[in-house]
Amino acid sequence: MNTNIKHVAVVGAGVMGHGIAEVCAISGYKVTSLDISEDILERAIESIARSLEKLHEKGTLKESPQIVLNRIKTTLNIEDLRDADLIIEAVTENEDIKKNVFRKLDSIVKSDAIFASNTSTIPITLLAKATNRPQKFIGLHFSNPPVLMPLVEIIRGEDTDQITVNVAKNFIKSLGKEYVIVNRDVPGFLFNRINTRIFIECVRLLEEGATAHDVDAMVRFRLGWPMGGLETLDIIGVDVFHLGISEMSKRGYPLRIPKTLEEMVLQGKLGVKRGEGFYKYPKPGAYVRPPILPTENMFSLNPFRLIATAVNEACWLFQNGVCIKEDVDKAMVLGMNLPMGILQLADRIGIDYLYTLLKQKFDATGFQEYKPNAMLEKMVEEKTLGLKTGKGFYAWNYERTDFGPIRYEKRHDHAVISICRPEKLNALNEACWKGLRSAFEKAAVDEDIRAVILMGEGRAFSSGDDISMMDLWKKPLDAKIWLEKFANPLMEIMSNYMKPIITLVNGLAFGGGMELNVVSDIVIASEDALFAQPEVLIGAFPPVASIYGVGLMGKRYIRYILTGEWMTAKQAKDLGLVDITVPSDQLEATGAEFVLKILRASPLATEFAKTSINILKNAFYEIHKTAVKDFAFLPLTDEFKEGIKAFLEKRPPKWVGSEKKE
Ligand code: NAD
Repeated sequence: MNTNIKHVAVVGAGVMGHGIAEVCAISGYKVTSLDISEDILERAIESIARSLEKLHEKGTLKESPQIVLNRIKTTLNIEDLRDADLIIEAVTENEDIKKNVFRKLDSIVKSDAIFASNTSTIPITLLAKATNRPQKFIGLHFSNPPVLMPLVEIIRGEDTDQITVNVAKNFIKSLGKEYVIVNRDVPGFLFNRINTRIFIECVRLLEEGATAHDVDAMVRFRLGWPMGGLETLDIIGVDVFHLGISEMSKRGYPLRIPKTLEEMVLQGKLGVKRGEGFYKYPKPGAYVRPPILPTENMFSLNPFRLIATAVNEACWLFQNGVCIKEDVDKAMVLGMNLPMGILQLADRIGIDYLYTLLKQKFDATGFQEYKPNAMLEKMVEEKTLGLKTGKGFYAWNYERTDFGPIRYEKRHDHAVISICRPEKLNALNEACWKGLRSAFEKAAVDEDIRAVILMGEGRAFSSGDDISMMDLWKKPLDAKIWLEKFANPLMEIMSNYMKPIITLVNGLAFGGGMELNVVSDIVIASEDALFAQPEVLIGAFPPVASIYGVGLMGKRYIRYILTGEWMTAKQAKDLGLVDITVPSDQLEATGAEFVLKILRASPLATEFAKTSINILKNAFYEIHKTAVKDFAFLPLTDEFKEGIKAFLEKRPPKWVGSEKKE
């Protein structure tokens, strides 16, 4: 690629400078590396040589390391940079030192050469003004280590001209790296502004009582990110992070710096380099990855807070014309190795939920950084909420069909089926059973859909079969018809369903409502959800619970079937019915989290797994069909009639003897 750049000078041969010199040499540029002492330069060359050897051994570097190394000259004499086409400055992060370096360079280096700074916190415009070529001055912010990190931020100063931006773009591409464009010179540019929000929320969770392990487990095993926020800070250096955010904050980035960080700096708990930070290491500088494993507590923390503050920051960037949304996601995916951009993730979680989280935090703390950005507010007002409305930061496939009281929504790659009789606590009448069947059938044939979420609108998941419907059964055939026409077909579909079914239980899941959870694959319940099989208390029995429930969950289920006792979400979890409990406000977002977990899996492997699981569920279905034959007579017992009547009259039933059938 022709960048018209042949000779690159890198000023400063420290952590970043020597890495940048190596990257340029690997890409064929003639490189001159300048520092203030021979020792530093020698160490830099040794380090580059070691790194090149490693790359060569791995097969990443095709050329011989010596040929690459021969492209790099070192010098203490600034005059040797005279004919460089591009100068990349990576000296100590100090405004005066950097300005001095640029002033000197400006008088020595040819006038058409481009000047770039790798600064993390000092405004590019300010440094540019130390030279007579501010239009040829640009920010090139590499990440550490430059050889491995694929992303470079290109920062436009106030005076930077378009030609310089274009040359910079081509140059970064020629290094085999990707770039994002930062159009305005704001403190922290793009990457650090957003990352800081994420890291700060991790520290705040710690301050609110979580352990470092729980916080990082939440990041890794709930968000699916490769590294926890706190383990990352230990690698960056708590002091380096603290200094960076202090500079950004001084220059107008709204941030309350958590006390914990200040204390850690004072106590010398700086991370890996000191042998202790958020975690302990064998000795200073000896990095052993902290053994972070999934924890129970990670589900009581809120990972969506990290996304809310990061997205709020991204909105500020858009509002101020700093960058485009695609670059925010690109920066986070390439720079932090995230499986998905934060704006894409925000669309999945729901913009309204993220907005609410920010608003609650802002109201509680008054911290400016939590104040929801006007753009987010507008998105909420306009119902640009993400997958759930078909449009958020991005456009998504959305479709809605109502099957009576059942709402079916296609949300791009999954379906959300909602029972919508909130005024009856989503009691299941015939229309519900029928609607559920149609909704499941619709999702089954849509190839885009990889998972189905089932939930209830309002305060309940479902309070069970509609008693007033049962009250209308007058002859055995009525119940038989209901079973054969409505209930059994849904059980059959769910038992053979090839796509994972996730239920979200927000309140009551009683009777038939609880049984829908027995047949689903993953049950996520809010911590205050309640479960019960109260059928025996009205003279009925729960067929699905008695067969599938006892079969899948074991003997402990029997107690609940025979007594109708209520179960808390925690008890239902101990029983094995509920997989995860979360605070109630997180329920829907956790549903989105689990859809993502399913999307990550191989579709074919999921199909195989579901096929085998369904063999078992189908065996239960066969037993169920046989068992419920007798059920057809149950509604005609005096006890059933009395049970229903007593329930409707809100009084205790008076049992008259089970053998008395009409
Ligand atoms: P460093 O301390 O490792 O290296 C700085 C080097 O500059 C030292 O070798 C020092 O001797 C040299 N130097 C100081 N004054 C000089 C002068 N007048 N002339 C020539 N050389 C001089 O620092 P670093 O971590 O490599 O950071 C360098 C720059 O890169 C900073 O602006 C920093 O903000 C930025 N940066 C750092 C990281 C990181 O993770 N370390 C990441 C991105 C950007």
